Amino acid sequence: MGLRLGALRLSLLYMLVAGLWVLFSDGWLTHLGLPNAQIERLQLFKGLGFVVLTALLLYLILRTHAHLQARSQQALSRSEERLSLALESAESGLWDWDLHQHSLYFSPRYASMLGLDPVDLGSSQETWLQRLHPDDRPGYEAALQAALAAPQTTMYENLFRLRHRDGSYRWIQARGRLQLDRAGQARRFIGTASDVTQRRADEDSLRQAAAVFEATQEGVLVTDAQHRIVHINPAFSRITGYSEAQILGQDPSLLKSGRHDSAFYANMWQMLRNQGGWSGEIWNRRRNGEIYPQWQCIRAIHDETGAIRHYVAVFSDITALKRSQRELDYLAHHDPLTNLPNRLLFTERVEHALERARREQLNGAVLLIDLDHFKHINESLGHNIGDLLLKAVGDRLTGLLDARMTLARLGGDEFGLLCESGLEAEQTADLAQQVLDSFHAPFAVVDQELFITASLGIGLFSDDAETVEQILRNVDSALFKAKSSGRETFAFYAQELTEHARQRVQLVSALRHALDLQELRVHYQPLIDLADGSMVGVEALVRWQHPQRGLVPPGEFIPIAEESGLISAIDTWVLQQACEQMVAWQRAGSRLKFVAVNVSSRLFCRDLLDHQVAQVLAQTGLAPACLELEVTESAVMVNPDAAQGLLERLRNLGVRLAIDDFGTGYSSLARLKRLPVHKLKLDQSFVRGLPHDEDDIAISRAVIALGHSLKMKVLAEGIEHPDQAAFLKALGCDFGQGYHFGRPAPQLPDEA
Ligand code: C2E
Ligand code: MG
Ligand code: MG
Repeated sequence: MGLRLGALRLSLLYMLVAGLWVLFSDGWLTHLGLPNAQIERLQLFKGLGFVVLTALLLYLILRTHAHLQARSQQALSRSEERLSLALESAESGLWDWDLHQHSLYFSPRYASMLGLDPVDLGSSQETWLQRLHPDDRPGYEAALQAALAAPQTTMYENLFRLRHRDGSYRWIQARGRLQLDRAGQARRFIGTASDVTQRRADEDSLRQAAAVFEATQEGVLVTDAQHRIVHINPAFSRITGYSEAQILGQDPSLLKSGRHDSAFYANMWQMLRNQGGWSGEIWNRRRNGEIYPQWQCIRAIHDETGAIRHYVAVFSDITALKRSQRELDYLAHHDPLTNLPNRLLFTERVEHALERARREQLNGAVLLIDLDHFKHINESLGHNIGDLLLKAVGDRLTGLLDARMTLARLGGDEFGLLCESGLEAEQTADLAQQVLDSFHAPFAVVDQELFITASLGIGLFSDDAETVEQILRNVDSALFKAKSSGRETFAFYAQELTEHARQRVQLVSALRHALDLQELRVHYQPLIDLADGSMVGVEALVRWQHPQRGLVPPGEFIPIAEESGLISAIDTWVLQQACEQMVAWQRAGSRLKFVAVNVSSRLFCRDLLDHQVAQVLAQTGLAPACLELEVTESAVMVNPDAAQGLLERLRNLGVRLAIDDFGTGYSSLARLKRLPVHKLKLDQSFVRGLPHDEDDIAISRAVIALGHSLKMKVLAEGIEHPDQAAFLKALGCDFGQGYHFGRPAPQLPDEA
């Protein structure tokens, strides 16, 4: 503006001076009074001089102008270069929006941020808006409106996403300034834009890292290169008990527990220096003095020159883990019911004992204690009572121990006792007897007193002891010997027992074939009416005619058959045989009223028994009333409700029912009252002591009275002497069975 005014003034001045010169110079020459020819010559010189002077003036003006223009051009391009360098180094692009012309300019850098050429961006706002992320449009427009609505503030800042050529969106930060015209209206909008996508991502990561740092359960500690603590997180304070104010600036050695020697720390620092990291378990001390284990990872942080700037330690308190490890270890080695060592720990202890025995030439013993007929307790009183009894047994046996003994529960109703006190056979036998005697007193379980006995197998070991497995196998076969010689006793392992065990294994496989090979037999034992001595029925008792071993009694193979599942086939076969035989006897004119058949408790648990019985009766044509089924007391009491249903269905068939071995189980009288049973068979163990044993007399009398009051008949088993028969008859017992009347035999004895 100033330049134009200057130029006008100069031109007017020139016009004035030149006009005055033209107007007055000729008049002035005329006044000189010179001759005309001279005047004309002077006028020519004056004219030429004027032209030369103005040309010189014009030259000077043009030269100065060109010079000035070159200078300003130079300054402009220098400043343009500076601007573009500045934008370049700021990694920013330029945008320039002419609000009057509605045209937009984008610098090449702006376009290249989006992977484009400036031409691709165009020069209209509409084209640009197409690149804007739809979600950011409302925000962008609001910021723009705010800037235009308040032009006095002129500064504008906005953050939005623009679509890159590759389809991704880039975060762009735009800053600008509004330029106003004279009237104060927005005329031009110009500013810079930079791609802040990476910076935002970095900020996000930083924010996440900070949140992790704050929230993590692991304690974090950062020191500088001089080991001064510069940063901790809240978990650090929670674990160690030190607040930020108490710990910042301190050396982490403040936390030392004193549990590790200097070599431990030297090794740690060496690893940190050489490998840049260390991790391991370390014991530290909390502020309250308590020491605790932690799992710790330390890393050294280097700067760009490779020098260590910081150390970062991340650690977790593993006290709880250690405790649960200890608990797990305890659980793995102890029986949860009795809290005694379990088989695993027992085996380990035996192993140590064997090693010691070898080293110190000591003797020792392993005793296997197995409860007799524990199954009955479980079956008749339930597993809860069974468990409580096992606990009580464990407690009582623990009372017998001295410091050099280990008692363990090996599983089920089996306990193991290890003695390392250098016992000889005789002392061990004393100990075994003590164990047996300890069972004489009843066990108080809930509100009842339970009696149970045990059998013991004993294995001795000395400095030439074999392996643990061997010794445990030996004790096992000793136990088997004790069990088969009548229970409630103990037996030592001897070589021949091993042979016995081998035979037992062979027996199982032989029994599998016994049915197919027709090696099973049925023997019949008379059942006598005590009133008149007549034979009213027979009991079918199975036998195994073994090709090598001869006649095997059921006591030896029925348990094996029950364990191996063969019992079902055997019992069905016996039932079939007995019914067929009974029909044959009846046809031959026998006056026998019934045949009694034993039913295993395993079979009794099955619901199909009544169908099976009905089928056999139909096949053989035997009248149901001529068949009596014997089930043991415990079989009925395992699941009394199911038993009740089954017994009722059997009774509806017309079959008679007897409870075998009565008095050995744990019958509930309330249950017994409701059972549709015809007969109680008083177990032979109560008959054995008659007619002198006071207890047996009392029990026999009670059972007979009980049976009669429940409207049942009573049969006494195992009558071997005439005075037993007479005594029972006198007590009112209805029937009898035993060697006194006749042993089990393949054929019917002559009927009386
Ligand atoms: P149980 O049903 O109580 O049978 C009575 C047992 O006492 C029979 O033994 C019999 O021979 C024996 N006995 C009879 N009178 C006397 C006596 O005066 N003195 C002595 N000491 N014993 C006598 P056995 O035949 O050895 O049978 C034992 C057990 O085997 C039976 O006891 C029964 O529970 C079971 N059993 C026998 N046969 C079968 C069968 O076919 N199926 C099932 N599941 N079990 C059977
Ligand atoms: Mg029987
Ligand atoms: Mg019996």
